[in-house]
Amino acid sequence: MYDIERIRQDFPILGREVYGHPLIYLDNGATTQKPRCVVDAMTDEYLNVNANVHRGVHFLSQQATELHEQARETVRQFINASSTTEIVFTRGTTESINLVASCFGQALMQAGDEVIVSEMEHHSNIVPWQLLQSRRDISIKVCPITDEGRLDLATLERLFTPRTRLVSLCHVSNVMGTVNPIREVIAMAHAHDVPVLVDAAQSVPHMAIDVQQLDCDFLAFSGHKVYGPTGIGVLYGKEQWLDRMPPYMGGGEMIDRVSFERTTFNQLPYKFEAGTPDYVATTGLARALDYVSALGWSDIEAHEHGLTVYARQQMASIDGMRFIGPSDDAVVSFLVGNIHHLDLGTLLDRLGIAVRTGHHCAEPLMHRMGVEGTVRASFALYNTRQEVDTLVAGIRRVARMFA
Ligand code: PMP
Repeated sequence: MYDIERIRQDFPILGREVYGHPLIYLDNGATTQKPRCVVDAMTDEYLNVNANVHRGVHFLSQQATELHEQARETVRQFINASSTTEIVFTRGTTESINLVASCFGQALMQAGDEVIVSEMEHHSNIVPWQLLQSRRDISIKVCPITDEGRLDLATLERLFTPRTRLVSLCHVSNVMGTVNPIREVIAMAHAHDVPVLVDAAQSVPHMAIDVQQLDCDFLAFSGHKVYGPTGIGVLYGKEQWLDRMPPYMGGGEMIDRVSFERTTFNQLPYKFEAGTPDYVATTGLARALDYVSALGWSDIEAHEHGLTVYARQQMASIDGMRFIGPSDDAVVSFLVGNIHHLDLGTLLDRLGIAVRTGHHCAEPLMHRMGVEGTVRASFALYNTRQEVDTLVAGIRRVARMFA
């Protein structure tokens, strides 16, 4: 049974108050709270194991290396990659996408080649391609979305040309909660011999991901959005692509032999991991993924889906409520009447309710939907129906102030 009260005990921060109200944390799309086991594992590593990984012959270094490499194996299992050589540790989704834009772009794209993204992308899946554009003169094709907030698949199909080299697409929209038909898109792209990068920042925390089943070529996610620490993330890449890409940064760890005449690079995945990795954060990430796995996806998904549907239902009865996007998954974006999103968010905060307001790092999407910003409530495995009720009562209260 999904024992929400027991689960909440694992997250000490949920017990605190804000402005004299119990904290209601509904900003999980931005970052999630951490269970005690994650923080404990990291504290323990710093206090009892700490040593730099990979290069040491001494006991602590070997123990730290073992933890770090076990974490890679935990990630591999979590997304069902076929090998740990395909799991690159990065600082997060943003760095993972930048790595692909930079290295794939350098090795496998020429002036005039094309990358396809969509209108619903986070800035971190737009700007890296623009940086590549300024360096390599590639072009960026943008798949439109419907008024409902879904990918226009018919138009997507028409965007492919002989110059298309990559599709880079979010699995779940951080603004609208749209779950994109990613498998269909991957099949479509592969039919054109085009690889696909999946921005899974908002899907890995909410659903089981199997990279072999999806058959995606790259997949990026952030540890902090899936109950893990900040500053650590993952790039999954099929070996066939990673092998053909040059290193991202130069330095220690990523080399095989170095001389002033000639340097050779380390094997995968270390070729992409220059410098001392955040080996404590990788342990924290592994414990977070263990935590999620122990609860089990079917219960987590049922719980979060139930909350999202309930929130949409309850909120729909508020006068002037306008939803932005379909909220397939754990995210409800909205505006109420003429109330500015910032005012609504600020007044909800005074009631102890943490939501996010603004453009959510998706300005082109705001432009497409004809809004400046939205209020976004996003759910996690520890949120409750009572919290949704308090949110709804809070919105009503703020709306009355503006009536
Ligand atoms: N893509 C999406 C869809 C996101 O929601 C986010 C975070 N809001 C990112 C990318 C960037 O993640 P990070 O800041 O952890 O690198």
